[in-house]
Amino acid sequence: MPNMSLEKVPMPQSEASVRNTNFKEVALGYTDEMAKEEAARCLKCKNKPCVAGCPVCVDIPEFISLIEQGEIEKAFYKVKETNSLPAICGRVCPQETQCEQLCLRGIKGEPVAIGRLERYVADWAMKNIEENHDINNSKAKVAIIGSGPASLACSGELAKMGYDVTIFEAFHVAGGVLVYGIPEFRLPKEIVQKEINEIKKLGVKIEMNMVVGKVVSIDELFNEGYKAVFVGTGAGLPSFMNIPGENLNGTFSANEFLTRINLMKAYDPDHNDTPVFIGRRVAIVGGGNVAMDAARCAKRMGAEEVYIIYRRSETEMPARIEEVEHAKEEGIIFHTLTNPISIEDDGNGWVGGIKCVKMELGEPDDSGRRRPVVIKGSEYVIPMDSVVIAIGQSPNPLIKNSTPDLETNKWGCIVADENTGITSKEGVFAGGDIVTGAATVILAMGAGRNAAKSIDEYIRGLTH
Ligand SMILES: Cc1cc2nc3c(=O)[nH]c(=O)nc-3n(C[C@H](O)[C@H](O)[C@H](O)COP(=O)(O)OP(=O)(O)OC[C@H]3O[C@@H](n4cnc5c(N)ncnc54)[C@H](O)[C@@H]3O)c2cc1C
Repeated sequence: MPNMSLEKVPMPQSEASVRNTNFKEVALGYTDEMAKEEAARCLKCKNKPCVAGCPVCVDIPEFISLIEQGEIEKAFYKVKETNSLPAICGRVCPQETQCEQLCLRGIKGEPVAIGRLERYVADWAMKNIEENHDINNSKAKVAIIGSGPASLACSGELAKMGYDVTIFEAFHVAGGVLVYGIPEFRLPKEIVQKEINEIKKLGVKIEMNMVVGKVVSIDELFNEGYKAVFVGTGAGLPSFMNIPGENLNGTFSANEFLTRINLMKAYDPDHNDTPVFIGRRVAIVGGGNVAMDAARCAKRMGAEEVYIIYRRSETEMPARIEEVEHAKEEGIIFHTLTNPISIEDDGNGWVGGIKCVKMELGEPDDSGRRRPVVIKGSEYVIPMDSVVIAIGQSPNPLIKNSTPDLETNKWGCIVADENTGITSKEGVFAGGDIVTGAATVILAMGAGRNAAKSIDEYIRGLTH
């Protein structure tokens, strides 16, 4: 019997006033009963509109139908056919603008909670299944640069095809933004580690502390016998506003702030001595997921007042709706239609305040969003102890500078075919944020998978 409820089965989550004091996961996941009840909301549409919204084409109605039948292991393997990181995607994918946006149940009520169901099967599998893989890495050597979702997906696919895959990662921990950016309370590091372990079980080797472009170049990798190279180095270079006072003590890029707290574990001071300055009042500038993560981290690290300062209105915020709601529940103060024009000195070289102007929305700009326009004479100062800039990231220029024959565009992104990852340099493929600029986990994964297919074709072409 289909469940015709107009609303999703709610996801249990920890209480806002408790969770904003710790880094434990906020969303707690469905029980078996909840998952079955939600699965019964799916109409199993013949033309599967939801699948068209999934960048890796998971057979959504099929895996949901298997949950309804109680076949959770089969449901898990159905998802795994095209999504190698389901426990991660079930937690952080923006389903509301992808698969769930196209769900027919969403026309007259809430769409089926596809993301929550994906997370349910993945978490169930982690507890109940020991995945076995036949390892055969006898084919050619392939080098993968970076270990974020694009690289993990690409290496997993190549290893399954029998290639001898080595990942070269600049940091001392693998996972990319999944470990250094997205906080523990949204994506526990244990989950990321388990997904990475599955990829290692396929025979993929990971070499840490390998900054390609410094320690070894792409050309040197070819000289060492690698037949193809995939570049998945992401977009980790923070952008700044270039306003007066940005160099004061107490101003951070979100990248540095989140890396100190997450990757370097400043949130766990009993076991780590990573320094991070928080302050009593913290301003986060920006309105994306990165800004929400920085704000919610600042609150958990003990800040009394945390402000989101964003120049457009809440409707234009690029952050996931769920993240905005969670941030509000946790006491984050939103100053929308507000733009910083300088950071004020407290007289000792530290942040003392942030000077802002009020904005109003004018005509749409190139992005289709209404352009924010300054309201004259609206300047005011909010007293502040620290400021975190979260207005965007672009690719680090290291690979570009050390590989002159690799074509990049004016934003420093590698120019690559979106379906194949083929770049201007023979044998070099690229995908994820390094090609698109800052985007999403699932798009990066999709690009990694596609590149794996074309790397296979390329290498087979070399040997025939
Ligand atoms: C704070 C934050 C929150 C986010 N939240 C979400 C979300 O909720 N949902 C969502 O879908 N997306 C989210 N995103 C975006 C998403 O995480 C990225 O789009 C995705 O991680 C990109 O994957 P990638 O593999 O291309 O690169 P990355 O994840 O950036 O990984 C690149 C890796 O390459 C390594 N590297 C870089 N240069 C070199 C080099 N020269 N040599 C060797 N290694 C190198 C880096 O250390 C890194 O490990 C968020 C991003 C941030 C920063």
